[in-house]
Amino acid sequence: MTNSQEAGTDQTQIGRVLHFVINTSGSIRCRPAFVVENFSHLNKKGPVNLDVFLDINDRPDDIEPLIMSIQNVYPNHIYRIPNTWHWPRECESLRGKP
Ligand SMILES: [Zn+2]
Repeated sequence: MTNSQEAGTDQTQIGRVLHFVINTSGSIRCRPAFVVENFSHLNKKGPVNLDVFLDINDRPDDIEPLIMSIQNVYPNHIYRIPNTWHWPRECESLRGKP
């Protein structure tokens, strides 16, 4: 079973929690993200709009909010690349350091 086949059996839905990949201080990290809008009915690979829940250390200046709204995010079920999302269960098998 490949990651893409696995991903094809599951659908994004408003309210689901995904992982969103960020680059924080030069480190590639996953953060939990809540699906707030879902465009998979328009495009099967479908972008989603996410509210991403950051760690306090992602915002060392302590000025910006810890929830970041990101629009039109596409999945990557193979590589851990900033500004993409994947299912939490895929995290261990992704290429790229967590
Ligand atoms: Zn992850």
